[in-house]
Amino acid sequence: MTGLPCAHERASCSLVMNPFQIDPRHLSPEGRQLSGVLPPTFFALGEDDPVRPESPLKYELQVLRDGEDLILTGRLEAEFSLECGRCLERFHQRVVLDPFAEEIPIEKEGTIDLTEVVREDILLALPNFPRCEDGNVDLRDCPAEGRFEADSPAAADEAPGADKGVWDALDQLKN
Ligand SMILES: [Zn+2]
Repeated sequence: MTGLPCAHERASCSLVMNPFQIDPRHLSPEGRQLSGVLPPTFFALGEDDPVRPESPLKYELQVLRDGEDLILTGRLEAEFSLECGRCLERFHQRVVLDPFAEEIPIEKEGTIDLTEVVREDILLALPNFPRCEDGNVDLRDCPAEGRFEADSPAAADEAPGADKGVWDALDQLKN
């Protein structure tokens, strides 16, 4: 990722360069345009988290001040891999929030960090109980789909019923 020229040491630079730190006092009436990409580490998900970011975060946002609020609008996009709760295999889901819109109250003087708002809104767009069919990158059928239904007593009851139908039909022919 190429950033803007920066005189800071690399480690501190990423903090200083956080594009989501906005000081409302320095916002012009036209607001500020933010666009770019941030590495998957932006989502701050642990190694063992079932949700894994698989792409950088792409953002195109406009920040405006409206009285005591910051208005954030635009588009967010990122790709994740999730674990299907039925077959336990991983699949990819791309989240696109377009249009994205948030209102953040300006509660105190100084810089406001929009990181958490952006992060949470994207993660909240992911399904609570992921299933293969939620995947929208490589469409696939869940390999476990229908497994439980086939083993269920209801399905077992159906087979003799069908056979009975055949015997009934044969009886009809005899008569
Ligand atoms: Zn599955």
